[in-house]
Amino acid sequence: MSILSRLFGRSPEAPPALPAPERPAEAAPHRAGVRRGGWPDGTGRALATPIQPSVVYGSAGPDALDAIYEGREPGFTYAREGHPNATVLAGKIDALEGAEGGIVMGSGMAAVAAAVIGLLKSGDHVVGADRLYGRSQRLMAEELPRLGIGTTQVDAGDAQAIADAIRPETRMILVEVVSNPMLRVADLKGIAALARERGVLLAVDNTFTTPRGIRPFEYGADIVIHSITKLLAGHSDATLGYVAARDPDLRERMRVFATTLGLTPSPFDCWLAERGLYSFDLRYDRAEENAARLADRLPDLPGVASVVYPGRRDHPDHDRAVSLLAGRFGNMVTFTLEGGREAANRLVAAAENLAFAPTLGDVSTTISHPATSSHRAMGAEARAALGITEGTFRISVGIEPPDHLLSEVEAAVRAAAE
Ligand SMILES: *Cc1c(COP(=O)(O)O)cnc(C)c1O
Repeated sequence: MSILSRLFGRSPEAPPALPAPERPAEAAPHRAGVRRGGWPDGTGRALATPIQPSVVYGSAGPDALDAIYEGREPGFTYAREGHPNATVLAGKIDALEGAEGGIVMGSGMAAVAAAVIGLLKSGDHVVGADRLYGRSQRLMAEELPRLGIGTTQVDAGDAQAIADAIRPETRMILVEVVSNPMLRVADLKGIAALARERGVLLAVDNTFTTPRGIRPFEYGADIVIHSITKLLAGHSDATLGYVAARDPDLRERMRVFATTLGLTPSPFDCWLAERGLYSFDLRYDRAEENAARLADRLPDLPGVASVVYPGRRDHPDHDRAVSLLAGRFGNMVTFTLEGGREAANRLVAAAENLAFAPTLGDVSTTISHPATSSHRAMGAEARAALGITEGTFRISVGIEPPDHLLSEVEAAVRAAAE
């Protein structure tokens, strides 16, 4: 009895099955379902970078694989260890920063973590700016001490304060060039001189300022960090980071750390960011021009108590911004309304076409309210010490037509004052 007839309970006397149809010729293996392959020949060289989502890469054999792992031949093995879209993107940011061998990470925080945790060990000490990005702040305050890495945070505008915080076990100084949201400018020249003199690594988060504002390696930074998520990618649709070091040994240690912990990026995000990067210069220039005009206009509007922009003469670090940023004052503007939370609510309600969202660097203008977002954890008193009140807004200025943007913001500020 055949298996089929047992399974289906057919008796041997059952009528014979219909004759099998003639089978078509065997399809070429790569068209036949699961067998890999099939990319058409003769596609030529695509103008746009293809997206390569493959997790794994074949190679010609054990000798060839050895050569790839040992870096004697170019190639890829496994996407967590590297993939073409990350390589293309890293090369382009390297060019902007005047760096070599930069690494693209799964987020800006992954890049910060790779620099700090990837290079330091228990018993080491980090001196950080006291107004770092929220999650970097948390890293300094909670995570590093938990791992036995000591931290001290001081005003990055004061190189002497940093000098005083350095201990024998200090290995790294971590600063941002322009702080959030009060846009204070770090004394990068002073800090770099100090780092050199004391043999401490200087890591600079250049997210706010971008290489269009400053290239920290030219000032003696050892490590440069970016949240690509923000201005570099520019379209709020990819979360990525970047870290580069001058010393190839440091690069290698960060690369191993990132691949071991899986901090590495998705090919699709890299592809989106690369696409955004092609217009970075144009976007930055337009957004900065818009920001400068807005910073000029805001003080004349009713109910505006103060305006912070490094390009303004009344900015406390204006002279330093002029010398450090060579006139590139960026796209961020912070201002404070009289009338506290109520005026703040009225402004957001009136600014219908401006997204109220706590991020920065999008093509479109976004406004954020530090007291209820980025700085909510610090408490009113600490916020007040920085100059942040319930009436304080930070604007990440976008690339809208300038007159249009100015009139939108002006209408919202006037409505808030009513
Ligand atoms: C956003 C930001 C980060 C973190 O980047 P993610 O891509 O969001 O992880 C780090 N530093 C600064 C200055 C940032 O603005």
